[in-house]
Amino acid sequence: MAKIQVKTPIVELDGDEMTRIIWAMIKEKLIRPFLDVNLKYYDLGVQKRDETDDRITTESARAIQQYGVGVKCATITPDAERVVEYKLKKAWPSPNGQIRSILDGTVFRKPILVKNVTPAVRSWKEPIIIGRHAYGDLYRGVELLVETPGKVEIVYSPAGGTETRLLLHDFKGPGVVMGIHNLEASIRSFARACITYALSERVPLWFSAKDTISKTYHAYFKEIFAAEAAAQQARLEQAGIQYRYMLIDDAAAQMMKQAGGILWALSNYDGDVFSDVVAAGFGSLGMMTSVLVSPDGQFEFEAAHGTVRRHYYEHLKGQPTSTNSVASIFAWTGGIKKRGELDGTPEVTRFGAQIEKAVIACIEAGIVTKDLVPLIEPRPAAHQTTEGFIDAVAARLKGMRR
Ligand code: NAP
Ligand code: MG
Repeated sequence: MAKIQVKTPIVELDGDEMTRIIWAMIKEKLIRPFLDVNLKYYDLGVQKRDETDDRITTESARAIQQYGVGVKCATITPDAERVVEYKLKKAWPSPNGQIRSILDGTVFRKPILVKNVTPAVRSWKEPIIIGRHAYGDLYRGVELLVETPGKVEIVYSPAGGTETRLLLHDFKGPGVVMGIHNLEASIRSFARACITYALSERVPLWFSAKDTISKTYHAYFKEIFAAEAAAQQARLEQAGIQYRYMLIDDAAAQMMKQAGGILWALSNYDGDVFSDVVAAGFGSLGMMTSVLVSPDGQFEFEAAHGTVRRHYYEHLKGQPTSTNSVASIFAWTGGIKKRGELDGTPEVTRFGAQIEKAVIACIEAGIVTKDLVPLIEPRPAAHQTTEGFIDAVAARLKGMRR
């Protein structure tokens, strides 16, 4: 069969350790044999980032801005230990954090569902997608330990204006204080990215906070979301999508009774907590995808997990590994499907969906990596190696394309 032509390039961001090995296998066995695609390759492996003083990361984000679609392999965020391990000049910042700040994007995490893995929450039938705001709040907080009695105030000194003072607390004994902030522009672009993604996935959008208690801070988020949803009302209606604001505790309880199929937008801390709750509720980290969406509609797809370091060390020792490649495969298919959609080439989109079908068919036939074995009903007798699973997907895919 002739290869399918992809009109516009896809930006490829390579990564580290076990996922780098998986990444190369996916490209060789599932992509290249079927697709004629111009991949703009950026090696974000930690050594290359070090060699280029991390310029490669910025360049890769600019390329995503230029072409609109990127696919990314998991990467090491170096800490002191990694600096020694890889002999790095310094502990370079998180590539994901940098790309996110250049694209001004929001991260959406979505689980991949299969029939033979029952989510821990029985009512969940469709993915619950979490949209987490990635700026401010607790993560940019300033904190103060109060050891002796005294007043703590918030002081706002506007440039050229009069000062405003607000009593935070008049301490009679020891205690603790935290100051947090957020920015109008960041909240607005978060709201826009959520609406863009809800439209792209055709799912209803919920935003939750606690504005009954936080009548200024959380209410500010709520108002911006409402305004952005109102501005897009015609598009939302046309797509048959509803926007709803719900109190966080109410939404959390509702979520346990819902079938899913919802985009749940949350502030930074709430999103941190609930994305892990949802991931655990659906099954394995190896089955969780992640996409960064910019407010202008640029997309970067990746797996939600890291570089699976422990498995990589086994691999280096020459031991067979059984690492789940599903989320990495879906990073590729997410990018391919989006490319087809943006280019108006349905055959490209169909091919992306076909790889996904081949993956799901394998899992539903009990062909799985080790992490899934305890989750599958009925329990498979054996598990595949990392490469064995990808080969099984490739064989199915060939069968489907014959
Ligand atoms: P990890 O890669 O998420 O893996 C943690 C553990 O989860 C693994 O040891 C494994 O458990 C299980 N696991 C995760 N993905 C799996 C998969 N695909 N198949 C099977 N099991 C899977 O986290 P890590 O090993 O602690 O972190 C390694 C590096 O990843 C760090 O340097 C960190 O900076 C980086 N990181 C990158 C990203 C990203 O680029 N998006 C995200 C998170 C972390 P068992 O050992 O029990 O088998
Ligand atoms: Mg977390």
